[in-house]
Amino acid sequence: MGRKRKNLIYTYFDYNENNKTSKCLIENCEQVLRGNHGANLMRHFYTQHRRLHDQILQENNKNKENVSPHKHDNHIKVMKHCCQLVTIHGRPFSILEDNAFKNLLSLIPNSSPLSVNIKNVKTMIQEHAYDIRK
Ligand SMILES: [Zn+2]
Repeated sequence: MGRKRKNLIYTYFDYNENNKTSKCLIENCEQVLRGNHGANLMRHFYTQHRRLHDQILQENNKNKENVSPHKHDNHIKVMKHCCQLVTIHGRPFSILEDNAFKNLLSLIPNSSPLSVNIKNVKTMIQEHAYDIRK
């Protein structure tokens, strides 16, 4: 699974899979760098296109502020609902491993469906000391 690339620096480069190089898309520059490591690309901008570099840095920081807490929020909510399915509604833990349930979770934006599993939900239930209905 590839990690999502939020860093705007990637929009300023054209990555060539074949020879593993990134071409700077700034007019009159078009310098070719090896690989597509974000830090290397940023260093090129730092030395060659300082003003843009600062803008990208600012935008990246903005994105972090907007995206991270939201993502975190939804995941915690999903986990809570899963705990309640088991504790309040008395559903078996196996519901968490059902394909239909996993597909349902994948429809929720900014959640982390892969980390919703029996082990993690059990841990959360223990940590929050939910009562499991017998
Ligand atoms: Zn450049």
